[in-house]
Amino acid sequence: MFFKTKKFERKVLLDKSVLDSIVTFCKMKHPNEGILILKGKSKNGQIKIDGLAIPPFNFTGPTFAGFPHSFLPFDNSYIGVVHSHPSGSAEPSVTDLNNFFGLVSLIIQSPYDDDSIFAWDSSGNTIPLSINDEHETEKN
Ligand SMILES: [Zn+2]
Repeated sequence: MFFKTKKFERKVLLDKSVLDSIVTFCKMKHPNEGILILKGKSKNGQIKIDGLAIPPFNFTGPTFAGFPHSFLPFDNSYIGVVHSHPSGSAEPSVTDLNNFFGLVSLIIQSPYDDDSIFAWDSSGNTIPLSINDEHETEKN
């Protein structure tokens, strides 16, 4: 099999267990926005998300969720953030793009189900997102 030198196709792989945690968290925060740090790794254009971290400083309201990036501890496994849009679409706002952190931004819109979540890059373009349901439960 031959691989031509072309741009790797970007793709986001999200563990189902992580998605479930995001859904639970955002439902809890509703009608305010919730925000979480995405943990994982990226290789050859594939971004694999397998964990979450709670931002150390967190300001949420109905229209904006954010945290000062300068307060974030340096951590290679932090590859982006996810936040919720309690109303409206899952498209990133100008504020979202100005506050872009890491490689990928996930946005989940109300009613927060498996079809409500989308992945975006720093230019506001969608990245294909697939849910990885085969995650072994190593730790509970
Ligand atoms: Zn937003």
